Amino acid sequence: MAKEDTKFDVAVIGGGPAGIMAAIQAASPEHGRRVVLIEKNSSLAKKLLLSGGGRCNLSNAEFNLRKIIMGYNNGEFLFHAFSVFGPKKIIEFFEKIGVKTKTEKNKKIFPVNNNAEEVLEALKIYLDKNNVTVLFSSEVKDVIKKGKKLGHTIIKPMPALAPIKLKEKWVANLQGISLKDVKINVLYNGKKQFSESGEIIFTHFGISGPSVLDISSRVGKLLEKKGIKISFDLFPNLNHEELKKELEEYLKGYPKKTIKNILSDFTAEKLAEVLLDIAEINKNKIANSIPKIERGTVIKVLKNIEVTPETILGFNEAKTTNGGISLKEIDSKTMKSKIIDNLFFAGEIIDVDGKTGGFNLQMCWSTGYLAGQI
Ligand SMILES: Cc1cc2nc3c(=O)[nH]c(=O)nc-3n(C[C@H](O)[C@H](O)[C@H](O)COP(=O)(O)OP(=O)(O)OC[C@H]3O[C@@H](n4cnc5c(N)ncnc54)[C@H](O)[C@@H]3O)c2cc1C
Repeated sequence: MAKEDTKFDVAVIGGGPAGIMAAIQAASPEHGRRVVLIEKNSSLAKKLLLSGGGRCNLSNAEFNLRKIIMGYNNGEFLFHAFSVFGPKKIIEFFEKIGVKTKTEKNKKIFPVNNNAEEVLEALKIYLDKNNVTVLFSSEVKDVIKKGKKLGHTIIKPMPALAPIKLKEKWVANLQGISLKDVKINVLYNGKKQFSESGEIIFTHFGISGPSVLDISSRVGKLLEKKGIKISFDLFPNLNHEELKKELEEYLKGYPKKTIKNILSDFTAEKLAEVLLDIAEINKNKIANSIPKIERGTVIKVLKNIEVTPETILGFNEAKTTNGGISLKEIDSKTMKSKIIDNLFFAGEIIDVDGKTGGFNLQMCWSTGYLAGQI
């Protein structure tokens, strides 16, 4: 194209959080680029609107760079991006564009008004202010450099932050039950591979909830092998002896209660029934008639319920993607392609993914910010 025919200096493909941030930066008075943002949908940032259950958990207030990058697969790659435009800067950025933020449990940052639409509206106003042209319902089919494909290596994309389907049919009876403080151990051939603590939620097919989502991509990778089990410790803060003491006190205190009713004081009633089935103990047995060996079995299941993951749910259920453009081919200081001039990447498309709690959006803002410094 002849210079005088060129309408735009920069084309940004994809109007999600990363693309919007890149477009805002490139078009800012500081850089003054003429920017077109090309979006295949008829509106911008559909996922952003769904984020945080519609409240938009837009970042995580972990201001220690070394610590925040631990919240990601391949987090080292983000070190520079976060040192330039990390969570503190994103709080300031949103404040500047009229979105006040607050920090909740686990350092999750939300807009004060708990409204993802407010976040998107503020970004749209800013795009407009910076004269970014937005093309809607326009899908980019290919980007070709002088008759060639771009040639970047793609690390196989896999769903991440997705619920896990289990083989055990009994989980369906527990649908809707949420347990706040569970330790999850993932085992391969009986050996612990990694663990995570937090909330789990039973669904009609398996398990979900923040800590399950956080282990899902790692479980997905392990599932290529056989012999993977997940075990839950319902009382991670008590060791066997301490839990045994508590149970003994209950059994003594309520000698005429059934074991099911006693266990229902320890955990959800339906789960208590399932646990007793697993332990092969009659749920109507009276407390003072429970032999020592069965008491031991009850403790064992409370500390170690084993289930078998069948699969990780697909991209439609996943909150983000594991894999993407190989980091070896991107300059982490600029987000520029190392193999194609003037090509930049940002957001979920690159081979970095974070845990729940605002990590993924922060990564999009930071990498989008760097990509837009042109
Ligand atoms: C239900 C849900 C809840 C979530 N909650 C949170 C949360 O609370 N906190 C958090 O940090 N993260 C959350 N995430 C993850 C977060 O939303 C993503 O990490 C983030 O949206 C990724 O931003 P992105 O700009 O890289 O990509 P996307 O948001 O996927 O945006 C990409 C855009 O590009 C467009 N596009 C794609 N291909 C083309 C093409 N060929 N041509 C033109 N346009 C194209 C798409 O239509 C889309 O608009 C959640 C995700 C989901 C699904």
